Amino acid sequence: MSYFINATAPVSGPEQLYSSIDFSKLSWAEQQWANWYLWIGNPILATGLMSFLVHEIVYFGRCVPWVIIDAIPYFRQWKLQPNKIPTPQEQWECTKLVLFSHFTIEAPLIWLFHPIAEALGMSTWQVPLPSWRLMLPQIAAFFVFEDMFHYFSHQMLHQGVFYKHIHKIHHKYSAPFGLAAEYAHPAEVLILGTGTIAGPLLYSYFMRDLHISTVYIWITLRLFQAIDAHSGYDFPWSLQHIVPFWSGAEHHDFHHMAFVNNFSTSFRWCDWLGGTDTKYRAYRQRIDAAKRQAKAKGMTVEEWRAYENKINAEEEAEGIKAEAAVEAKAGGKKID
Ligand SMILES: [Zn+2]
Ligand SMILES: [Zn+2]
Repeated sequence: MSYFINATAPVSGPEQLYSSIDFSKLSWAEQQWANWYLWIGNPILATGLMSFLVHEIVYFGRCVPWVIIDAIPYFRQWKLQPNKIPTPQEQWECTKLVLFSHFTIEAPLIWLFHPIAEALGMSTWQVPLPSWRLMLPQIAAFFVFEDMFHYFSHQMLHQGVFYKHIHKIHHKYSAPFGLAAEYAHPAEVLILGTGTIAGPLLYSYFMRDLHISTVYIWITLRLFQAIDAHSGYDFPWSLQHIVPFWSGAEHHDFHHMAFVNNFSTSFRWCDWLGGTDTKYRAYRQRIDAAKRQAKAKGMTVEEWRAYENKINAEEEAEGIKAEAAVEAKAGGKKID
């Protein structure tokens, strides 16, 4: 806790925030951090604006490479549902709803972040910034907490009324793409966003050694995770091939295609322990066996793609039935 500087001292003006700090002893990043708070001149505004900008820049910045990849046919060889490429029109429609929810729901919440963070003992304007040794275990803990929180609340969102009135929007795309990561009902953004923010807030309340810059790094990594999981591509160099318990796109794409299984976000262990990945694992075995068969038969790439698309279409058809059953429970359309 040595890096805390006047964390509880009364603050009357932006210059006084740093009155006891020797700027020449700070790193470049720390000087920029302090300069931001001095330049804005109001810590609540500075934290709020920074939080909003981090979210917007990281979200859309991370989506751009996926939009480009979708436009280049060369990458289709690694597309999980190769016959379902989002059109620019679809991507634009998706972007509009995401932006609408960012400006109406998330923006006001982000403005409350500074007072809540401070009340729970989180450092915001303070410098120096925390060391990597302190940050890494904190971020790891947030990943594990969020994954578990998401696992249970996502399953709740698949129940009758919750699905029909809230989560159905996110399932508009049976073959998701990067921008669709936050395509969701505002209530869903609130419910699932809690998993991302509650970890740092609870941690801060009990441990009192969390700096908001660590939270920004966590949110950046979490956004990368969510966008990549919706990308629709599984490359040989994707993280899940290096870290076997990482979910990645291959895991979440199945959730959108088949409607069932794979409710967690970052890791595979919750679904494995909860037995909510049995259909997914059977599907993987089916695809692997089909691949071996295709090789033995000497199928061309086009023939294999057609075969793969047929298997995927069957999984999706079952998913549509499962979705109708959930909606029927909520008093929606009847199952045929
Ligand atoms: Zn879902
Ligand atoms: Zn999703």
